[in-house]
Amino acid sequence: MDDRAAELAAALAALEQRLLAACEAAGRPRADVRLVAVTKTHPASDVQVLRDLGVEDFGENRDQEAKDKAAAVPEVRWHFVGAVQTNKARSVATYADVVHSVDRPGLVQALSRGADRAGRVLDVLLQVSLDGDPARGGALPADIPGLAEQAAAAAGLRLAGVMAIAPLDADPTQAFAQLAEVSARLRDDHPDAHAISAGMTGDLEQAIAAGATHVRVGTALLGRRPPVSR
Ligand SMILES: *Cc1c(COP(=O)(O)O)cnc(C)c1O
Repeated sequence: MDDRAAELAAALAALEQRLLAACEAAGRPRADVRLVAVTKTHPASDVQVLRDLGVEDFGENRDQEAKDKAAAVPEVRWHFVGAVQTNKARSVATYADVVHSVDRPGLVQALSRGADRAGRVLDVLLQVSLDGDPARGGALPADIPGLAEQAAAAAGLRLAGVMAIAPLDADPTQAFAQLAEVSARLRDDHPDAHAISAGMTGDLEQAIAAGATHVRVGTALLGRRPPVSR
């Protein structure tokens, strides 16, 4: 095993302990929570190492980078976790298995058309804005029921649940409790849409306590990312 592989193996073991402890504290089985390794900015070779260590789900947030890695390592599940520009939806639909960041009617329509054209079915999560500022991504909780109806009826899409990023300046416990309420309301009408994607390196314990079914972890697993300029 080379240095990077040893480093990733150690980080994965430490993260697994964290996930186990968080599940135990929440009285939930570990199998309830899926780890999505967010590999953005890190090379496809890291994906291959983590795959060989048993990680099955990988997340990316930029189309070109995601497309290249999905082509290099097609046999894992690819999750798109970043904002999707409408003109990238067709591309995303060709390789993503799950899109976590669906937040507007035009995107539902574009992903549906792309999935249909590619002969694929995408799981979609509706991203919820928890700070009342949809400019940062996510739909307002009041807009989720309408978006859910649209996604549930769209060809090529399967409505799978909700996603959120805790606001920077807020208590994550409170934010994830709000997300859990949105999820409960969604499941009244769409009982199969039970996924809750919440929790990152800094707040995965609070997310698991609040019922997260997917945690999206980058830094704790892969190390620091170079600062992004865009
Ligand atoms: C980068 C990213 C993550 C991972 O964040 P870390 O703090 O590095 O674990 C999770 N979710 C989204 C949407 C991201 O863009």
